[in-house]
Amino acid sequence: MNLPTAQAPTLAKTSDGRDFPVRRVFCVGRNYAAHAREMGRDPDREPPFYFAKWAETVVPSGSKVTYPPKTANYHYEAELVVAIGVGGRNISTESALEHVWGYATGLDMTRRDLQLEARGQGRPWSTGKNFEQSAPLGLIHPVSEVGHLAKGPIELTVNGETKQKGDLEELIWPVEDVIANRSTLYTLQPGDLIFTGTPAGVGPVVPGDVVKVTIEGLSDTVITIVPPEA
Ligand code: MN
Repeated sequence: MNLPTAQAPTLAKTSDGRDFPVRRVFCVGRNYAAHAREMGRDPDREPPFYFAKWAETVVPSGSKVTYPPKTANYHYEAELVVAIGVGGRNISTESALEHVWGYATGLDMTRRDLQLEARGQGRPWSTGKNFEQSAPLGLIHPVSEVGHLAKGPIELTVNGETKQKGDLEELIWPVEDVIANRSTLYTLQPGDLIFTGTPAGVGPVVPGDVVKVTIEGLSDTVITIVPPEA
């Protein structure tokens, strides 16, 4: 048997047409109070936490995303994504934003039934969160173009109907706190992406649905859900 051929690293696109090599994908859980409550948790007592996805789960806006196997409750989660440009560890909150290359819209697609089953059994969330095409991503806009995003509307529509509507200023842990905290657990690397959490209003999609994430100042993420191949 031949050895597998090495695959090119996942490349995201920047707003000025360059390739952004994705290193790792980290996600923050329950970073908006209203979403923590809709998931049956108390945001005042449970700080946010992290899970991860493979870099190859990132797919560009405009993709046809295949309805994944082994789920009957496939959910969207609209998120602000931070693209890291400068690595480091034990980063202070005050200097954290100096590590940001840019920002994008994104989707933390979730097999909710598998996630909740794992949560109930005290097992890892991997099968619920980390699977093919589970991290659709818009163009990454450099800080030099859009500055830092601390407030502004974040919205998600399905087939044009608003399902999630929040504001970045509602983040329990804003971007600088997430970077500082995460850098105590991992050494931040250039190319890391951080999905910062989703506002309330998560829900299911089915094949044929068009899902759009909008954050003021950034390019949209738009995907179309397609049925699995027979
Ligand atoms: Mn999420």
